[in-house]
Amino acid sequence: MTIRTRFAPSPTGLLHIGNARAALFNFLFTRHHGGKFLLRIEDTDRERSTQEAIEVIFAGLKWMGITPDEEPVFQSSREVRHREVAFELLEKGLAYKCFCTPEELKTMRENALKEGKPPRYNGLWRDRDPSEAPAGAPYAIRIKAPREGETNLTDLVQGKVRVANAELDDMIILRSDGTPTYQHAVVVDDHDMGITHVLRGDDHLTNTFRQTMIYSAMGWDLPHFGHLPLIHGPDGAKLSKRHGASSVIEFREMGYLPEALCNYLLRLGWGHGDVEILSRDEQIRLFDIDGVGRSASRMDYAKLEHVNAVWLRQADNIRLTDDVMERFKNIEGVQVDEMIRTRVQTLMPELKERARTLVELTDNAAFLGRHIPLPFTPKAEKLLTPEARAMLRDLARDLAIVSPFTPEAIDTALRRFAENHAYKLGQVAQPLRAAVTGSHSSPGIDSTLHALGRDETLARLGAVA
Ligand code: GLU
Repeated sequence: MTIRTRFAPSPTGLLHIGNARAALFNFLFTRHHGGKFLLRIEDTDRERSTQEAIEVIFAGLKWMGITPDEEPVFQSSREVRHREVAFELLEKGLAYKCFCTPEELKTMRENALKEGKPPRYNGLWRDRDPSEAPAGAPYAIRIKAPREGETNLTDLVQGKVRVANAELDDMIILRSDGTPTYQHAVVVDDHDMGITHVLRGDDHLTNTFRQTMIYSAMGWDLPHFGHLPLIHGPDGAKLSKRHGASSVIEFREMGYLPEALCNYLLRLGWGHGDVEILSRDEQIRLFDIDGVGRSASRMDYAKLEHVNAVWLRQADNIRLTDDVMERFKNIEGVQVDEMIRTRVQTLMPELKERARTLVELTDNAAFLGRHIPLPFTPKAEKLLTPEARAMLRDLARDLAIVSPFTPEAIDTALRRFAENHAYKLGQVAQPLRAAVTGSHSSPGIDSTLHALGRDETLARLGAVA
């Protein structure tokens, strides 16, 4: 059997990381077994679906390196087929027309609640003859739910699960306006797309039981189901905005690398011993559904930051420079041109060692793109005492003749200067750093000056000395 999985988001908002993780698990599972991973946009809810949300899904998946193996399927384009199946069930006597008005349904629910029963449809039209309905009255199509026994499933993650069939009511599969319900469209599409494994959030478990009714009525084989535990916030409540970032775009904006986010999301619900950092190839090689835990995981933002720092250090310097230059565009007073780019790229090997996110990396690199006079932090200001400024004046004379202006030559010049004037190296380096970066911390001073170049270094010293 060739495995076929799908990710089936509804384009009604941002791409939540819970969903992104479901996409990742489907993708890794499929790649591991050499199958096909598909994307279906569930846009049947016309009111809530937006083009923008569709773009966000495409962009988010692309960013995470999760690419479908076939053209995406838009659920809305399949309504004729959804109707066809609903009418087939009607003809087979496994579904029926329900002529209840919204008011009747409301009363039915209220009465059930009064009697202490769950507010379900009571099967009013299940055995009634449609001729009893007023001529031309609108109707919905409901499936005949089994009334006795229970439905059992072996879930790939949750193990054996079951529900008493009395819990399932005659749900609507086709609304009176001819549109399919979510439950119906999902089943018809999964069947027609040849989906063999449905891996999705465990909030869909009750839907799965309801959906099995359509599979059995149509005589279709059930796919394998695996219900993934949800991601909770650090406090154990369902992850939401109030915990911090929860959508893929937010994490991207906050400066997380896609490799890091995927690595973290994978480790959040699945483990391979104590190994924390796994390349995509290793993920594909090692991932399987039986390693997915049953309980909800808690989002640990500090851990994600740590994982991101590890990935940052391994990331390509040019790629990081591109990203930082993009982010520079949003920082006032920072220039974006080829000269600045060269400085950033030159210092990148050291900058990336000291940042946990791309935002931090950008902030740490910003001094390279600023103009004189530099803004100084209070700590830098404090380092630039009148004596320090006088010392920097002398130092500038020495630096002016360092050639070539390499980190090694700069280091030698600084050491010689400190020795000649009986300073400790730090007494020279700290005011120097403050003068050329505007802050008290930066990568090694020799690399920093080298990245700025001699002219810019001297210009910056000239502005304070
Ligand atoms: N469209 C559904 C959602 O976004 C998912 C359906 C499914 O995975 O079966 O929640």
